[in-house]
Amino acid sequence: MLRLRPTLPDVLEIAGRRVPLVATRRTTARMVRLKANSVSGAIEISLPPRGGEAAALALLKSHHDWLAAKVATWPRPIPFAPGFIIPIDGAPVLIDWQAGHPRTPALLADRLRLGGPAESLGPRLERWLKARAKADLEAATQRFADQLGRTVARVSVGDPATRWGSCAGWNRPEGARIAYSWRLILAPAFVRHAIAAHEAAHLVHPNHSPAFHALNRALDPRAQDARRWLARHGAALHWVGRPF
Ligand SMILES: [Zn+2]
Repeated sequence: MLRLRPTLPDVLEIAGRRVPLVATRRTTARMVRLKANSVSGAIEISLPPRGGEAAALALLKSHHDWLAAKVATWPRPIPFAPGFIIPIDGAPVLIDWQAGHPRTPALLADRLRLGGPAESLGPRLERWLKARAKADLEAATQRFADQLGRTVARVSVGDPATRWGSCAGWNRPEGARIAYSWRLILAPAFVRHAIAAHEAAHLVHPNHSPAFHALNRALDPRAQDARRWLARHGAALHWVGRPF
């Protein structure tokens, strides 16, 4: 993938928002393709290995209304900044920052109290959420693995754009490695734990066969509800901690 030289604009004005345009060349692309990515918040355009800029501009023009309708449904960014409300466990929580508050974040019902330097508020809040996500998902994964009599070598959290969880090395003697999106801590607990059940079921079945789904349901009967919740609200979780 090569980044295109700036013959196309970097930013588009769509539906009253400034939306980045990300153009990439793909060796396998035969024609120009357009995508409104509600997770990254960008208009993505893929071009063949050479040329295509004129076709891309024409496509952007002819699809303006379609793009505007898509962008209008995108979530709004919620920055990690004082006074903003972020979801934790699916419930709204006010970021209650004041210089005089204790530096360590404390979740007090519907507000997250923290002090320390204002400049480092964002990174500190993200670290705190990641740690909370890891602790919760590690415990949930371990519970399911114990039920199944399987070993998990490592549970980690990251920030993947397209997956909520992944399970690698299911048949390694030392146990599998399971990774989650830290953003699951923003979702209701039943959603997070259903994802943990899904990944734990992969400790037994490294596929999405009927046997896998039966085991997944046995571990957590709300697997389908969780998928539905994420299909509806998942993109918005990616806009938490994003500046305007
Ligand atoms: Zn899976």
